[in-house]
Amino acid sequence: MPPIVDHYHWDIHSDYTILTPSQLSSGGDPDKPDFLVQFRAYRSNTTSRHLVTSKIAILRFDSIITDLNNSASPFFRYLGMPEERQVNLVDEISFFADGLAMDISNAGETMFPIVVSIDISDDAYVDDFQEEAAELIKELEKVVVNEEDYYEQCPICLDRPSTGEEITYMPCSHFCHSNCLLKWFQKNASCPLCRFQCLTIFSQI
Ligand SMILES: [Zn+2]
Ligand SMILES: [Zn+2]
Repeated sequence: MPPIVDHYHWDIHSDYTILTPSQLSSGGDPDKPDFLVQFRAYRSNTTSRHLVTSKIAILRFDSIITDLNNSASPFFRYLGMPEERQVNLVDEISFFADGLAMDISNAGETMFPIVVSIDISDDAYVDDFQEEAAELIKELEKVVVNEEDYYEQCPICLDRPSTGEEITYMPCSHFCHSNCLLKWFQKNASCPLCRFQCLTIFSQI
């Protein structure tokens, strides 16, 4: 799979509404303020934008890069973001955090709110997704149903596979009609029964 370079756009800003009252009045150390970062991932295309997943992390002043690498990198990987883009984003977040902490008008604050919105552009994303799905389907075990075979219903269309139809086994050993699976993988990365992540583009680490 070629590296995804232009699928990810982000915006980093400060938003005090994401802090709870207790976080606002927490007796932290104003010389070493903490950062509360809310990551929000959106899928977007030219006509729509919707939140896919979000995550909150608290970063310590003294260990911001380490904390970012520990808490944010798994999230970025989950989004399928390539390594070099992860590094860029981590750099930008720590630079932004530094700026907040050094800003004289923020003196006395003990917790800084940071919102990182990541837009994953759908159009480009779909291409990679399709490509990986096609590769996977090629490799999966397929069976053509015989007259004497009995199969449980296909979890996608809910019909039982009948004689002459082809079914495909997913890596989790669940099966679907081959045609149903083809359509399913155009929008989903996991098994419809057990949610096993079949496509690595979405695999969580
Ligand atoms: Zn089916
Ligand atoms: Zn399964």
